Amino acid sequence: MKRRYNIVVVGGGMTGLTVAALLANSRHADALRLTVVDAAPRPRFDSDDDIALRVSAIATGSADMLDSIGAWETVVSTRACPYEHMRVWDGEDDPEGPSTLRFDADEFAVPQLGFIVENLLVRDAILKVLDRMDVSLRFDTPIAAIDNAVDTYRVLLEDGREIDADLVIGADGARSFVRESAGIDVSRRPYAQTAFVTHLRPQESHGATARQRFLADGPLGMLPLEDGRISVVWSTTHETARQAMAASDAELGSMLTEASDQVLGELAAAGPRGTFPLCAQHAGNYVLPRLALIGDAAHAVHPLAGQGANLGLADAGTLSTVIEEAITRGEHPGDRPVLRRYERARKGANATMLHLMTGLNQLFAVGSPTIGELRRAGMRLFNVSGPLRERAVKVALGAGRH
Ligand SMILES: Cc1cc2nc3c(=O)[nH]c(=O)nc-3n(C[C@H](O)[C@H](O)[C@H](O)COP(=O)(O)OP(=O)(O)OC[C@H]3O[C@@H](n4cnc5c(N)ncnc54)[C@H](O)[C@@H]3O)c2cc1C
Repeated sequence: MKRRYNIVVVGGGMTGLTVAALLANSRHADALRLTVVDAAPRPRFDSDDDIALRVSAIATGSADMLDSIGAWETVVSTRACPYEHMRVWDGEDDPEGPSTLRFDADEFAVPQLGFIVENLLVRDAILKVLDRMDVSLRFDTPIAAIDNAVDTYRVLLEDGREIDADLVIGADGARSFVRESAGIDVSRRPYAQTAFVTHLRPQESHGATARQRFLADGPLGMLPLEDGRISVVWSTTHETARQAMAASDAELGSMLTEASDQVLGELAAAGPRGTFPLCAQHAGNYVLPRLALIGDAAHAVHPLAGQGANLGLADAGTLSTVIEEAITRGEHPGDRPVLRRYERARKGANATMLHLMTGLNQLFAVGSPTIGELRRAGMRLFNVSGPLRERAVKVALGAGRH
């Protein structure tokens, strides 16, 4: 009889659900017994509800991956905003000036550069796919411990039940319990910034454009929403983020109109508000025998280029491919040499993105006029360099490809 492997995915965020769905769709699905365990209640999306606070820029490559598991059609037909243009500029400059970085879908012969979608909707759509598959889903189920037994990990649930796993996939976010319990070290560098997030109604049309203005305190991201509002991710000082949370609607509108340099005219407060601490984080190892980390459990990057979820989805894609190929070859999918193939494929790419985001954030925080002039010269040069621009767009479009 064909051997079956028990795989327990800890964490039902975007990356955990995606890896479960990819494995359940794989050639060797019948050789796998899949369980997803999440501490929180099952997320439920209702299209009558307002657009949720947490949205993500999903790259085309990630959308393709979600399509391959049958979840994307639900997302895109329910509520998603394609964006066709991207503008990135230095806070000292005119957004229409020559040093503004410009990317347009037309130029790269694609219909859009990506989509702004609600995290909740993506998770709900994947869960609807998983409901139809042979995957056990356990929400409201925190794990209490993972114990390394002889050939398996014993996953102890807080309700007292136990699951023996041939492979544990830790997809339990930046404060990963799996990572801590397995003793995997993590390098952590907090940014001196907090991300303030809200929706605003702009006076002028957002024109399906994702915008980013780099200010000395951190970048202000303005993402287009399907109903004409914009979602703002303002990485700023802890104090300014605190003031933005406490401000009246009129005060908040003025603060962000000023921070955006009126690029979309007056901005009016029009949605919930929240703050998120920002930290660059990278796990020393992604894998141990019978254990692999994916998504924010393995790496957390600055949200300035909207890449965190895309990198997590790319991890999910690579890990599921590595597992599928291992089973084809008759290998145990939890063996370290097998899992190392995943780590080798993803760790370097994630480290590059992490350093790039940290470096960009620092570069724009330097107030010196000389550095400012160099920055602008670099951006003007980038604008006229065909190969560099093409490379950057390939990365941005395909961050989710595996
Ligand atoms: C302000 C902001 C804006 C962002 N914008 C973008 C963007 O535009 N594009 C983009 O690609 N990325 C963006 N990101 C990053 C993106 O949100 C994250 O990278 C992504 O959500 C991580 O997904 P994940 O599934 O790895 O982890 P999480 O979403 O953190 O999911 C972890 C899951 O594990 C569960 N869990 C935790 N502990 C346990 C436990 N002990 N037992 C069981 N379950 C547990 C949790 O309940 C949760 O469901 C942004 C981040 C921030 C902060």
